[in-house]
Amino acid sequence: MAETHVSNHWTRCFIGLGSNLEHPVTQVSTALLELDRLPQCRNLTPSSLYRSDPVGPPGQPDYINAVASLETTLSPLDLLDALQALEQQHQRVRIQHWGPRTLDLDLLLYGDQLINNERLTVPHPYLQERSFVLYPLAEIAPQLHIPNQKSLAECLENCQKGSLERI
Ligand code: ATP
Ligand code: CA
Ligand code: CA
Repeated sequence: MAETHVSNHWTRCFIGLGSNLEHPVTQVSTALLELDRLPQCRNLTPSSLYRSDPVGPPGQPDYINAVASLETTLSPLDLLDALQALEQQHQRVRIQHWGPRTLDLDLLLYGDQLINNERLTVPHPYLQERSFVLYPLAEIAPQLHIPNQKSLAECLENCQKGSLERI
């Protein structure tokens, strides 16, 4: 019988969710339920939903964002596969860089790991400059340690809240 390597080590991860197409509130709320049901994942903690002005090409609808933490035994790349499969389930189509999307799931943090390969950079490279990530993170994990970066509190001090509003 082939040997399988299933880790039993649970790592706490943070995921950023965003949508600005096809009923974004429903997209993000549904995605939170789906994350909660992912195999080898437990203890999902979601933030509130937030509304923000779009980043990237002008003329897009507003974004709905949230973050969630969960514990997983999936490897970082297996978790990314699971997140990308969920994006596909939400009929995400990639046309334009930073263009409008039904669902975007970013792996913000994977425990304390620093990851840099072709498919994955963790901590997520824009984490510390995005209000729609930092404010919801502060809601669910105010003491969060971000490896190789300033504390969450310091990041927040340097990041304008801008148009971001909790809904
Ligand atoms: P941004 O990364 O600025 O938020 P985006 O979310 O619009 O932009 P995508 O088109 O969703 O970018 O993703 C492009 C690629 O980024 C993905 O195919 C994935 O392999 C890679 N990627 C690198 N690091 C991460 C990460 N931490 N989380 C999710 N995807 C990542
Ligand atoms: Ca993103
Ligand atoms: Ca993404």
